Amino acid sequence: MIVAAEDLLSWYERSRRDLPWRDPGVSPWQILVSEFMLQQTPVARVLPIWTEWVVRWPTPSATAAASAADVLRAWGKLGYPRRAKRLHECATVIARDHGDVVPDDVDTLMTLPGVGSYTARAVACFAYHQPVPVVDTNVRRVVARAVHGRADARAPSAARDHADVAALLPENGVAHHFSAALMELGATVCTARAPKCGLCPVTGCRWRELGYPPAEGPARRAQTYAGTDRQVRGRLLDVLRDNASPVTRAQLDVAWLTDTAQRDRALESLLADGLVTRMPDGRYALVGEEDR
Ligand code: SF4
Repeated sequence: MIVAAEDLLSWYERSRRDLPWRDPGVSPWQILVSEFMLQQTPVARVLPIWTEWVVRWPTPSATAAASAADVLRAWGKLGYPRRAKRLHECATVIARDHGDVVPDDVDTLMTLPGVGSYTARAVACFAYHQPVPVVDTNVRRVVARAVHGRADARAPSAARDHADVAALLPENGVAHHFSAALMELGATVCTARAPKCGLCPVTGCRWRELGYPPAEGPARRAQTYAGTDRQVRGRLLDVLRDNASPVTRAQLDVAWLTDTAQRDRALESLLADGLVTRMPDGRYALVGEEDR
């Protein structure tokens, strides 16, 4: 397969979405915040939250100085709220141990709370322009199709996935643009359900040349949200976020009447994750907000 860097980069210049965390002048910390938020949440939902967030807390130390409850509240309905808690912890470590400056190397980044291999590489690449492979789901799908002629990526393998992308990266100082372009291609053109091959800058896509052989193995089931523990956790957190003071168990109970055992399980998991506190008088509060 051929992913000609110049073709992909010129397509990216013409077609990329105007996302504020890509603007020049956005700090490594603000890019790190965007990567935390984008891990499991679509761009459209991240945009307004990120925009408010970086104005309110532009640096790690500003974020660290906020209460955990304020951070959880600002996280709003982005979902997977443990990320908010980890981001707050990450800010605290950067402010305390790294002079309020986001580290620029992958190994140090990976020592930070909530920062795994993908996020560390994304920050090193997009904030510090290092030529490290950055591999998300979209990139894995593009590589699977264009390079390997498969409809879907195989099970993730960091070594194999990084080697695949490293082999594509150009060497003339634009690897970070190339990585951004590859991700954008997967997000907007080579999408999971309906790739728009007529708009694609990749020439010699192997999957296309082979006549689009179908995926091997059983079809993937679409993820559902309705009725899951995640939804119940979200409902309970909504009650806590919407109240400036601690709430009673009865106030929480009305948030999910369908299945009381599921509601109890969701509440216990929020307590276990350190996102919610049970006070001595039996009321509940967002962590760090017990005194209000
Ligand atoms: S030609 Fe089609 S399948 Fe191949 S990389 Fe482009 S969009 Fe994806």
